[in-house]
Amino acid sequence: MQLQGLNKSFDGQQVLKDITLELPEKKTTVIVGPSGSGKSTLLRSLNLLERPESGHYELSSLAIDFSHEISTKQLLNVRKKTGMVFQDYNLFPHKTVIQNVTEGPIQVLKKNKKEVHKEGLALLDKVGLAAKADAYPEQLSGGQSQRVAIARSLAMHPEYILLDEPTSALDPELEAEVLHVLAELAQERQSLVIVTHNLFFARQIADKIIFIEDGQVIFDGDPQDFFDENQKSSRISRFISAMT
Ligand code: ADP
Ligand code: MG
Repeated sequence: MQLQGLNKSFDGQQVLKDITLELPEKKTTVIVGPSGSGKSTLLRSLNLLERPESGHYELSSLAIDFSHEISTKQLLNVRKKTGMVFQDYNLFPHKTVIQNVTEGPIQVLKKNKKEVHKEGLALLDKVGLAAKADAYPEQLSGGQSQRVAIARSLAMHPEYILLDEPTSALDPELEAEVLHVLAELAQERQSLVIVTHNLFFARQIADKIIFIEDGQVIFDGDPQDFFDENQKSSRISRFISAMT
């Protein structure tokens, strides 16, 4: 997917400034940057949860010009191709784990219930939660909840999975379970865009790093260059030393 010249303001304050980026298919792109720099707004724009005032967005065969109105059809197409995973999981509290995973494919994609159920169980197995299929979200740890949220996203077969600080609410050991699942998806070449504060993980998993500060792209490139000890940008080296 590609963004060109994206601008977004809230109440007259510009929070995304002329963002031009490529988020490659079948790769893992990690977005980092200080709090309030615009990372969530950028990620949410990819799913059309936010509407930039201007800019172009290309997602496989879809092309969107943000300065024009977005049709319902475009909105549904973008939502179909992008799955969002939130920091606080957003599971349906009154549905079981397997129902959380199968709800979308049954209700939205109108898929065959039996097949969806079977695939849902396979996805739960993939994230290490086959035994929790009939549990309710309140019976899960944070790490388990987030893995259900990832399985739920996978069940929709989006082209890209977008994750906004998926482990920020978790203790380190629970975080590790989730990072393990993400590393596996990355290895399977699922296209991922991950916002995270975990630079250690970013370094391990990223094919590409994007550093955003004050609504602007400061760095867009190779993790190796970003973490280079001779990092020439003082803004980046200051950020890295503050975070590690
Ligand atoms: P990050 O995810 O990097 O912490 P955000 O994208 O959440 O940054 O926010 C970027 C800026 O936009 C911040 O100044 C934030 O206060 C502002 N902002 C985000 N969402 C809204 C909103 N819905 N209404 C008004 N301001 C917002
Ligand atoms: Mg955020």
